[in-house]
Amino acid sequence: MSIHPLPIDVIHLIAAGEVIDSLAAVVRELCENAIDAGASRITVSLFPDKWRIQVADNGIGIELADLQLAATAHSTSKIDDRDDLFHITSLGFRGEALHSLAQLANLEIYSRPRYSCDGWHLVYNHQGEVLRQQQVAIAPGTIINVENLFGDWEARREGLPNLSQQLRQVQTIIYHLALCYPQISWTVEQQHRPWFQIVASKTTQQIIPQLLPKVRVNDLQYVELKIQPLKQIQDLTNLNPISYIHTADSSVAEKDRDEESKIQLTLGLPDHCHRHRLDWVKVAVNGRIVRAPELEQTIVSGLARTLPRDRYPVCFLHLQIPPHYIDWNRHPAKVEIYLQQIEYWQSQVLQALDRALNLDAKDIDDDDTTITSRIGKLLTVAEQQGAYQIPNRWRSLSAQADASRWRSLAFGITERASISSNDGDGLGLLELRAVGQVLNTYIVAEHTDGLWLVEQHIAHERVLYEQITAAWQLLPLEPPIILSHLSERQIDQLQQIGLIVDPFGEGLSAIRTAPAPLLLREDLAAAITELSLGGDLQAAQVAVACRCAIRNGTSLSLSEMQSLLDRWQRTRNPRTCPHGRPIYLSFKESSLARSFRRHWVIGKSHGI
Ligand SMILES: [Zn+2]
Repeated sequence: MSIHPLPIDVIHLIAAGEVIDSLAAVVRELCENAIDAGASRITVSLFPDKWRIQVADNGIGIELADLQLAATAHSTSKIDDRDDLFHITSLGFRGEALHSLAQLANLEIYSRPRYSCDGWHLVYNHQGEVLRQQQVAIAPGTIINVENLFGDWEARREGLPNLSQQLRQVQTIIYHLALCYPQISWTVEQQHRPWFQIVASKTTQQIIPQLLPKVRVNDLQYVELKIQPLKQIQDLTNLNPISYIHTADSSVAEKDRDEESKIQLTLGLPDHCHRHRLDWVKVAVNGRIVRAPELEQTIVSGLARTLPRDRYPVCFLHLQIPPHYIDWNRHPAKVEIYLQQIEYWQSQVLQALDRALNLDAKDIDDDDTTITSRIGKLLTVAEQQGAYQIPNRWRSLSAQADASRWRSLAFGITERASISSNDGDGLGLLELRAVGQVLNTYIVAEHTDGLWLVEQHIAHERVLYEQITAAWQLLPLEPPIILSHLSERQIDQLQQIGLIVDPFGEGLSAIRTAPAPLLLREDLAAAITELSLGGDLQAAQVAVACRCAIRNGTSLSLSEMQSLLDRWQRTRNPRTCPHGRPIYLSFKESSLARSFRRHWVIGKSHGI
């Protein structure tokens, strides 16, 4: 027996089947073509019973001469030579999609160039050659109709998941494109009936609430950072093939200057929204959702200890960067990428996160339903926190003892810990003025735009937590603390977080070091016992911050409140405590005015 090479058209068919392997892949290819054509409106119509997909756009359209060649092999107009492969920014760079579709289905295209009166309708055969063409009257733009997909390929049809799963894939593809291209409006139909719609807007901040119905625009923060170019230097004499220097000068190569880099980050604010699963941390690079594990990890760890337990962020990160930083080869389907100089991009992402987490005046809730629901949430949480409800009979006693301790901690020894890059420059701070305290628990603050309530214990806990994590220190205890009846496990746990524990005779252990903030506390023994009960280093740091933070029920002077407000605002994440509870509640003046029906007042009565 001899081995015969496969006929070339069979090879092509296999290649086509690798790109186009599902309904969703057809939708992706056609929509990416529409986006490349500059469309601002895309309509996707699905007829699953006929294996038919139609995508209509209002883009620039295709000239007749190009239409005639559109479905032939390697007929892309987007890549002229191999070198260009490294500078691809348009989506449909494979350029093979229409040819593949012609091979796998019945393909028809209607198109009218934007500034032409003539529209054309072309029907192609399976080789991508024109079978028929005729002039038609249509609006400018392109309609591509794909029918009887995989008609000659029964095995492929049978290998696909069930219809509802396929439709879910289609929806995901369109959602991802909508996130990357917020300026496009989408209409999606099934069997001529509307399925879903996405309305165009300026940024992704308005898109996400259309995809996640429980999330509102105010729950999100959008930031955009321009990034200074990194100059690429190729050192051919060195084995290390590519190195970069950070450059701010004007001698940057022409090419790099042309290619502007930016980060667009849309973040679900941790005090407003989060998910049960890690399913909404999405990263896109140059208009395409990708798997970029290092960047996803940066986002998740950048938001550690801002969300409640077992909750995950809502976050969409879009990097627009020169293509030569991207290594697409990590995964053949171009879904997983590797970025050159990953640490640099990670640091930029962290900066964007910090920016998004800052408090600013437009944070003030402007919508009554938000306020009502947030008050509800805050009250529920407060009620559950039995530990914070200090019984009256010993409130004054313990409160006073605590107050003196936390005062020294808040205003004394911890001054050295720099807790934020904002520290000291005073920029980006809200003008929050402490005006009083309610129930010895909530600080009332005035801002030119309204009223803020800040829960004192968790605001202080946030301040301390960030200080403690920035400078975790274990100091010697002289004399050591002797604890009795610690189990093996408890001793292990203490050693795990770095404490020095020695046996000290029958059933006794000597604790020879302790976290710095606990050192002078009278309840040191209780604190160490608490730390021995479990949790990682981070959990221990939270426990220390919680124990040292001022208790609710402690009365504060105005200057102490002001100092706490200032320090709290400078934290990296002022929105939530390390357990993920919201720290503040804000009321915009206009919504207060609405609540008091100030628009009812006619004339100058009632003190207006
Ligand atoms: Zn606490």
